[in-house]
Amino acid sequence: MRMILLGPPGAGKGTQAKDLVNKYGIPQISTGDILRKNLADKTPLGIEAKSYMDKGALVPDSVVVGIVKERLKESDCAKGYILDGFPRTVPQAEALEAALADMNTPLDKVLSIEVADSELIERLSGRRTCRNCPTGFHVKFKPSKVEGVCDACGGELYQRDDDQAEAIANRLKTYHSSTAPLIEYYTKKGILRAVNGVGDMSVILDRMVKALEG
Ligand code: AMP
Repeated sequence: MRMILLGPPGAGKGTQAKDLVNKYGIPQISTGDILRKNLADKTPLGIEAKSYMDKGALVPDSVVVGIVKERLKESDCAKGYILDGFPRTVPQAEALEAALADMNTPLDKVLSIEVADSELIERLSGRRTCRNCPTGFHVKFKPSKVEGVCDACGGELYQRDDDQAEAIANRLKTYHSSTAPLIEYYTKKGILRAVNGVGDMSVILDRMVKALEG
């Protein structure tokens, strides 16, 4: 199963992708996670990406396309993968399509996760991230037992620069102008399925599985 999780920031793509990883045994490829790892390791790529990411702007297409093309060549992608946060622009989608055509491995499905902007703002502004491990928290919906401390590893929780109010507004604007056109792009290709992204995680997983297998 080669699939894309498409949706606005805060739609829960990262969490939903992890559920799909467990169900289908295929890797999650998150360009946001790869960029944040490069940022933490202070690689040249991370340093280049930082100024865009902090503002909630998109990193240039050529950078993320290069990352994904390399990642898709790794052996764990042979049975499929879940692209999370990529593509985010039509040129990225076109570059992906060309790369997959070369590899003779077309996409199977694109799930479009739908959540209203008002709900996204509440979700994103309360989000807290661990500095040490991938566990996420939310001040209202999933608070840590001790404020500011990760339940899983004891690491420090912080608010990502791109989860600050101004960056959130930018990210939503960018989503509507640059990423939402992909809904039409993949609808025309006949592989897009819309999924309501509001509700319990288990209910959303059921909806995703029905959309993928139905
Ligand atoms: P995410 O964790 O997916 O919300 O990504 C965090 C940030 O990384 C985004 O706000 C962008 O600055 C950058 N980023 C991640 N994926 C992409 C992409 N496909 N194209 C451009 N920028 C990206």
